[in-house]
Amino acid sequence: MDLQRTIRRKVSVEGIGLHSGEPVLLTLTPAAADTGILFRAADGTLVPADIEHVVDGRAATTVGAFGVRVRTIEHLMAAAAALGIDNLVVDVDAEEVPALDGSAKPFVDLLYSAGAAPLPVPRRPLVLREPIRVGDGHRWLEITPSDCFRVTYTLDNPHPVIGQQIVSLEVTEAAFVDELAAARTYGFLKDVPTMRKNGLARGGSLDNAVVVGKRAVLNDSLRFEDEFVRHKILDLVGDLWLLGRPLCGHVTGKNGGHALNHELAAAVRRAFAAERRPRPSRARLHPADTIIPGGSLSPRPGIAAL
Ligand SMILES: [Zn+2]
Repeated sequence: MDLQRTIRRKVSVEGIGLHSGEPVLLTLTPAAADTGILFRAADGTLVPADIEHVVDGRAATTVGAFGVRVRTIEHLMAAAAALGIDNLVVDVDAEEVPALDGSAKPFVDLLYSAGAAPLPVPRRPLVLREPIRVGDGHRWLEITPSDCFRVTYTLDNPHPVIGQQIVSLEVTEAAFVDELAAARTYGFLKDVPTMRKNGLARGGSLDNAVVVGKRAVLNDSLRFEDEFVRHKILDLVGDLWLLGRPLCGHVTGKNGGHALNHELAAAVRRAFAAERRPRPSRARLHPADTIIPGGSLSPRPGIAAL
């Protein structure tokens, strides 16, 4: 039986937010089965990392509750998904997850350093029976039945550095670690002034992003020849972890982004809504029941609405 998992011990990492540019300390704490990935802001507000709490998908995945937001959660989510970590409390002392090197690799390393611990509750994979498609003729994502979680992704960008890139793989832990985790986020130099004016990319640099200039990348080198499409898949894996359950299906897609990833996740959620097994709602659980001792989750106003 495939059991839910959390981490074995508390671990932390510091960095700056890709969009905010602000320093942030992120701490991962073990959590009980069926907690999911739960962010906790400095004021104690709890923000579940699930599709119902996505409040912005324009340049990153932002979740929010009670007026508190946590930005750019997708690379941490991707690492947790790939390593099969279902349950975590994630403390952040600023509003954005640290960018670190712009990929999921540092989060993979952090999770490995924490170790994995099984929990006495089975995982409940979402096994697709019917295809689900979102998007239009230019940008779309589709999921079809398959006996494993597989992604086939096409990135088609007229920029000479990118062009057409296609990757297809079964997203196992090993494949994620070897083929996807190190692929960095990317942006176009020409977009940087507008992004910064709009409160985006303020922490972005060659240390945490691939920056695409007119004819070449400004970084010394790429980590993969097709790093761009690999990062797209990494983001997709992270965004689909907003479902909180492993997905069994083949996702194909072209030129998507966070907004489309969220659309797909929401459509999958709707398709499975009817078959959800009753389980104790978090709303009725005292926080102490939800978190493994040592998690030090204190009751806060608002927990009742989770
Ligand atoms: Zn990304």
